[in-house]
Amino acid sequence: MTEREPIRGAGRVVHVTSLANPIVKEIRGLALPKNRRASRLFVAEGLKLVADAIEADWQVRYLVHSARVANEALVERLSAVARVRGADIVSVSEPVLAKIARRENPQAVIGVFEQRLTPPGEIRPGDNDVHVALEAIRDPGNLGTIIRTVDAVGATGVILVGDTVDPFSIEAVRATMGSIFHVPLTRASAAEFATLRARWPGTVVGTHLAATQDYRAATYRGPVLVVMGGEQAGLSPPLAAACETLVKIPMAGRADSLNLAVATGVMLFEVLRDRLRVNG
Ligand code: SAM
Repeated sequence: MTEREPIRGAGRVVHVTSLANPIVKEIRGLALPKNRRASRLFVAEGLKLVADAIEADWQVRYLVHSARVANEALVERLSAVARVRGADIVSVSEPVLAKIARRENPQAVIGVFEQRLTPPGEIRPGDNDVHVALEAIRDPGNLGTIIRTVDAVGATGVILVGDTVDPFSIEAVRATMGSIFHVPLTRASAAEFATLRARWPGTVVGTHLAATQDYRAATYRGPVLVVMGGEQAGLSPPLAAACETLVKIPMAGRADSLNLAVATGVMLFEVLRDRLRVNG
């Protein structure tokens, strides 16, 4: 098949050397939030991320690779799996790859995947679950780091509350180091979060700089919902009021607060302290 006849999602192999190719334009367009919203697609760059996604059964639309790696064993294997799942395999020239990729030194493999979100109404927390709710998080690096940490400690999922950064932006996806493919994500409006909170059977703990309780002194009864404020405004009064308890991580230096991702990590290690072991 040539680049003049791309057929989407049909498991074709397409060779592309022109920047004007519609697939190239479509993938480049996914850098814009409005296009990601409309198409519900997103881009993951790099062999490791693409392999993680395919192994975790994420639906792949395009697998793009530089012609120079076409014969590498892992690329061949991933391409074969992606084709069976209906993806187009797009083999591109270096100039095209440089245009599609967002990095200075473009990764030789790029995947375009369908976004996956769990509706708030489908969250059914079990006793051992630990979810993290993030209000108005703005920084994609923080979000990616939190998703990676949630994955690392074996927590259950991340709930994005209100107007937040897009978890499927290239920066957020990159910062997850592949954990985005293993951590269920939910988007919830303030009203949807209130409904979820009302039926939450365990501890709902908020983190707040004005709290008087040390986070190490609180009792965390499962399932635990850890609620974190945004980088700029912190936890809003309505969300703080919705929490059963508010805790603070003590600080001794001159910083006003901890970085959001660091504070989330500290909380998760405390909530899961009895379950995390170096030797399994
Ligand atoms: N200016 C914001 C404020 O006044 O809340 C700072 C927000 S802080 C950068 C982002 C979030 O991280 C906070 O809303 C809180 O959830 C958490 N956080 C940061 N440092 C904390 C601490 N020492 N104790 C508890 N939570 C903290």
